[in-house]
Amino acid sequence: MHELGWLEDFLRRPHQEVREVGGQIGDERVTLADFSHLPARCPFIVLMPQWDFLDFVAERGRQYGPFHLRMEAQVVDLLDVDARIAGVVATTPQGRLEVRAELTVAADGRGSIVRARAGLTVVDLGAPIDVLWLRLSRRPDDPSQILGYLRGGHVFVMLQRGDYWQCAFVIPKDGYGELRRDGLEAFRRTISTTVPFLADRVSELADWDAVKLLTVTIDRLREWYRDGLLCIGDAAHAMSPIGGVGINLAVQDAVAAANLLAGPLQRGAVTIDDLAAVQRRRSFPTRATQRLQVLMQDRVISRTLRSGAPASLPLLARLLRDHPVLRRLPARMIGLGFRPEHVQTST
Ligand SMILES: Cc1cc2nc3c(=O)[nH]c(=O)nc-3n(C[C@H](O)[C@H](O)[C@H](O)COP(=O)(O)OP(=O)(O)OC[C@H]3O[C@@H](n4cnc5c(N)ncnc54)[C@H](O)[C@@H]3O)c2cc1C
Repeated sequence: MHELGWLEDFLRRPHQEVREVGGQIGDERVTLADFSHLPARCPFIVLMPQWDFLDFVAERGRQYGPFHLRMEAQVVDLLDVDARIAGVVATTPQGRLEVRAELTVAADGRGSIVRARAGLTVVDLGAPIDVLWLRLSRRPDDPSQILGYLRGGHVFVMLQRGDYWQCAFVIPKDGYGELRRDGLEAFRRTISTTVPFLADRVSELADWDAVKLLTVTIDRLREWYRDGLLCIGDAAHAMSPIGGVGINLAVQDAVAAANLLAGPLQRGAVTIDDLAAVQRRRSFPTRATQRLQVLMQDRVISRTLRSGAPASLPLLARLLRDHPVLRRLPARMIGLGFRPEHVQTST
């Protein structure tokens, strides 16, 4: 945002600034990441509802003449001309729409229809977990960190959003049916035991409609491109929620793609080698991050969910508890990632 010259306006939008991530592992509370030392203009994480963030980006985009945003347009197919992707077909409230383009960039997330239609090969890395997404109110004297709880065989993450907590309750894949069979009261009790200070407000979960099941996937495309088409973000590599870094990677892919493709696009000659260069640049951070996510889900999260026992403090958490300076490392991985990108194109 700073490199685009938008930072001050961006920070005028309602948001929360988070400087630490805390964890409750068994009976111990540990600070797991400290962002205050990040070598960045804003050494904190900004939490902002997605619609506010997207509205901001869309509004800025409109300042550029050729930018068009089509709302309520769903891509349903690709225009394939002589084995080259030449644009997309979408359905809109006004009917069918064809958009022709020198380059189509698929940023349609982990259920990407574009990558499926393009016939790109997906390597599935496997995710044994899903997430239940719910909200509970936040009181003024509640903590202000991002909080992760690993207790009594449960994993519960809380993101503070001002007057409410956005909560993620992690379940084994396909475990939702069983949870529902046990009933809502049992689920409320589980939350209260895992995070005792929420006991006075779990009744806000009036029915199962207040609980949304989100499917977790970790995968990546063997090749992120075809002639005329580039996939970025989750469409190229679906990320798990672990570490809260999927959005960073998606944005970094977009910045790298802009840096590498602005010149060829201006010349009107984007080659397959140009598209391959984007994948080469972003492949290492994607693989390294996914490797860590798989490690965390298999070694820590699945074990906690399976064991049903109170988690004991793993070695890494003990090190972070005893050596505060080490908390800068996870902060760096979450805040900057393995390969930060910088805007090089003119604004
Ligand atoms: C439960 C869960 C929690 C997560 N929590 C976090 C977190 O806290 N922090 C974090 O950094 N990452 C998190 N992640 C990962 C993160 O959501 C993704 O990595 C990130 O959103 C990828 O961004 P994206 O822009 O590529 O895709 P998305 O954010 O999925 O955006 C895709 C967009 O394309 C649109 N779209 C889809 N299909 C079509 C179509 N056919 N036509 C037109 N538009 C279409 C969608 O409506 C959507 O707006 C989480 C993931 C899960 C599953």
